[in-house]
Amino acid sequence: MYWDRAAETMDRRDLERLQLERLNATLQRAAHAPYYRDLHGARGAGPLPSLVDIAGLPFTTKADLRDHFPYGFLAVPMEDVVRLHSSSGTTGNPTVIYHTRADIEAWADLAARSMYMTGVRKADVFQNMMGYGLFTGGIGLHYGAERLGALTIPIGPGNSKRQLWFMRQFRTTVVHILPSYALRLATFFAETSIDPRKDLALRIAFIGAEPHTEETRRRIEQVWGIKVYNSYGLSEMCGPGVAFECPEQNGMHLWEDHFILEIVDPDTGRVLPEGEWGELVLTSLARAATPLIRYRTRDLTRILPGPCACGRTHRRIDRIRGRSDDMLIINGVNLFPMQVERTLMREPAIGSNYLIEVHEENFMDRLHVKVELRQEAFEGTLAELEHLAARVTDELTAELGVTPVVKLLEAGSLPAAEGKAVRVVDLRKSGGKGA
Ligand code: AMP
Ligand code: ZN
Repeated sequence: MYWDRAAETMDRRDLERLQLERLNATLQRAAHAPYYRDLHGARGAGPLPSLVDIAGLPFTTKADLRDHFPYGFLAVPMEDVVRLHSSSGTTGNPTVIYHTRADIEAWADLAARSMYMTGVRKADVFQNMMGYGLFTGGIGLHYGAERLGALTIPIGPGNSKRQLWFMRQFRTTVVHILPSYALRLATFFAETSIDPRKDLALRIAFIGAEPHTEETRRRIEQVWGIKVYNSYGLSEMCGPGVAFECPEQNGMHLWEDHFILEIVDPDTGRVLPEGEWGELVLTSLARAATPLIRYRTRDLTRILPGPCACGRTHRRIDRIRGRSDDMLIINGVNLFPMQVERTLMREPAIGSNYLIEVHEENFMDRLHVKVELRQEAFEGTLAELEHLAARVTDELTAELGVTPVVKLLEAGSLPAAEGKAVRVVDLRKSGGKGA
């Protein structure tokens, strides 16, 4: 049941002792990176007498990583580096994360631990539909699955026909997939009269890399007839395998022997107590090449209080609600794209894709929600369609506190990204940053 029983079920006091030890070792190692040497001095910021003292250290942000490109955060000699991953934003330098061989092995182990937790075993066939390359999604669980001993098919995303062929040919039991693509593939199954329950051998899917709602998870579970687990990670800490759901499906265990977990108020930076929503801040505890201290992930979540029935002692975080920077302000009302998704996914007639557009009309913000319908929805009368549009508008208004313009579209009419889904297009001149 456990991949690493000692680590996963460690007594909290022992776990915290291990964290402090590893934190102090990390602070010492970080002093070799130019950025932290300048910040903390050549002797490093430690040793800290207790874990709570971490709150006295400054945060590290994505902008810091960019500004100190390419080597500011490198804490080992370049010859010890075996891999780098990089992500480029829309502006400025890319961010680069380096890995030693030991970093890669530790990451693979966390990925194996996470997958094993949900029931993946050696005999499974793992079809990895996440992107490979500089993006860490595909390669992260790939190494985990191989370490676990499962047959791994590194197919990557897209080309639904080929995905289906592999699933049938090799009796795939486990997939790793973007939630937005899982919804689209469900539509493809319906179009090609595939009943995943009868025609395929699937049991488990891992979804992650982009925010999604509980309603989306349940929908994928229903259509595919499998168990779907939420997988969280970010390149800055390694990639997938940072936090993962167990069979209880009640939040994601964040692997605290490898990361220190804090939730802070995104505006003030104050550390928040368990149960309160805020921004996830992570400190790596076992990474050599690019140790990061108090890294602001910008992901919004909370710590779920109480122990988990699975016996693991690592605390759980809630589903990521969105990012602190993807909140929309519509005529002064704050809302998150996930609130729209939650409402849409409750409506059975709604298909697999949607897009939020923010327009400026007569100096006012106007929210447009474009949604694809399932094919059957167009078989009814026009009056039925109008009725559906009105109902969706009402439900969105109740959830958001803003009345959107709802446009119902045929399946396949919205752009479908191969990578992470683009859910929001802000067409306001101000870009929504306050005019
Ligand atoms: P990347 O650095 O490209 O690997 O992207 C990491 C980011 O993807 C995270 O900071 C999150 O914003 C997002 N992400 C990853 N996993 C999840 C998940 N399970 N739920 C929601 N967002 C996720
Ligand atoms: Zn659990």
